[in-house]
Amino acid sequence: MGKIELIKGDITQLEVDAIVNAANSTLRGGGGVDGAIHRAAGPKLLEECLQITEKIGYCPTGEAVITGAGNLKCKYVIHTVGPIWKGGSYGEEFLLRISYINSLKLAKEYSLKVIAFPNISTGAYGFPKKLACEIAVSAVKEFLLQNPEIERVIFVCYDQENYEIYQKYLTNE
Ligand code: ADP
Repeated sequence: MGKIELIKGDITQLEVDAIVNAANSTLRGGGGVDGAIHRAAGPKLLEECLQITEKIGYCPTGEAVITGAGNLKCKYVIHTVGPIWKGGSYGEEFLLRISYINSLKLAKEYSLKVIAFPNISTGAYGFPKKLACEIAVSAVKEFLLQNPEIERVIFVCYDQENYEIYQKYLTNE
């Protein structure tokens, strides 16, 4: 089974097969990690995103699309739209889970081996961080068990709070 790793830092700096972007459904960039990825990648990334939205309109919550990576060091960017937390009774847990799963399915389709995730939905979208960590880790573990061709998934925590939550969860599990 593929490995799970945890690092604290900026996902835009990673030399992996794909980094995942916590995008919004317009795919036009935004704040947080989305803004950081678009800034670091340059205009080519937005151009590719706009080509996709011309075809599909917008990217629904829980779905994922893939583009090249512009000036980034990784090969691809997988853009997924996590759910906005609205209290927990709007399918948020399911939608967060399928954001991770659909991102990994795309990675598999493209034969990618090393994929890095940010902590989807835990910034502006307000998803409770501990619950998001539990969902992310269990979704990724399940996918790795069923898809041994994926070699490594890296959880990239940018804020100290998420890093400590992941560290604790991954060591105690
Ligand atoms: P969302 O709208 O899905 O909540 P945000 O970008 O607001 O997306 O936040 C998601 C997570 O991304 C947060 O935990 C935030 O700390 C983290 N983040 C922000 N910038 C970066 C970065 N450069 N690299 C990795 N993670 C980042």
